[in-house]
Amino acid sequence: MNENVELVLKGKEKRRPIEVDGVKVGQGFVVIAGPCSVEDEKQTIETAIAVKNAGAQMLRGGAFKPRTSPYAFQGLGLKGLKILKRAKEETGLPVVTEVMDPRDVSWVSEYADVLQIGARNMQNFSLLKEVGRSGKPVLLKRGMHSTIDEWLNSAEYILAEGNHDVILCERGIRTFEKATRNTLDISAVPVVKKLTHLPVIIDPSHAAGHAYLVPSLSLAALAAGADGLMVEVHVNPDAALSDREQSLRPDEFSKLMEKIRRLEEVIRNIHDRD
Ligand code: PEP
Ligand code: MN
Repeated sequence: MNENVELVLKGKEKRRPIEVDGVKVGQGFVVIAGPCSVEDEKQTIETAIAVKNAGAQMLRGGAFKPRTSPYAFQGLGLKGLKILKRAKEETGLPVVTEVMDPRDVSWVSEYADVLQIGARNMQNFSLLKEVGRSGKPVLLKRGMHSTIDEWLNSAEYILAEGNHDVILCERGIRTFEKATRNTLDISAVPVVKKLTHLPVIIDPSHAAGHAYLVPSLSLAALAAGADGLMVEVHVNPDAALSDREQSLRPDEFSKLMEKIRRLEEVIRNIHDRD
């Protein structure tokens, strides 16, 4: 590990939960859920209500979408952010949303409770510096071809600007394996826990690429000691404008939340006996 990564390394700062509108990331197991993209008000609010009823503590939804093709749905931008705000008013769920451009950070911060840095932008250093000056908690995804060392260096950029509220998010890395969209690096959880005081969550949806895999990866994340999850849920996945194959239906998400609660109890018992 590069010894210049001082601020994120354990021992410099104590582990403490990151507060987002009353939700404490790094205390208990926090589940963030919602659609890949904000598509319209009905889809977003219905999904938000469904995930809230199932027990999610934060809402996710992209208004700026980093798409491989320039012709694919790019997100609703400001209109999407306004819809997210209405979904928050409706459900009380704090909002996590991606920002892709340093020029957008200050005004997107007016709508977001947590600024998401996507995998493709993990080493966009001007963006990292800008969110470091935003005063907002940041969810920093691991780049799909980044090492843990590079990921923690990116977190360091944000902390070095004075923003210590960084949540790390492992979302799978590229390997030769084609059965999954990415390979979930579950070892990243204990490795990052050993190295840094920052909370780390798992995004099973982008790791898996297929909805049927999401419950297994989610339970594995909890068992491995992750601080939470970020899961894609859509009221009607077949009609989703992005990531339809990996999005859970609300009933599937509710079942998963039930299993999470049961596994949490088992894990508490195991740790009580340590
Ligand atoms: C997303 O969360 O919708 C997203 C685009 O994720 P990633 O940056 O991990 O691909
Ligand atoms: Mn997505």
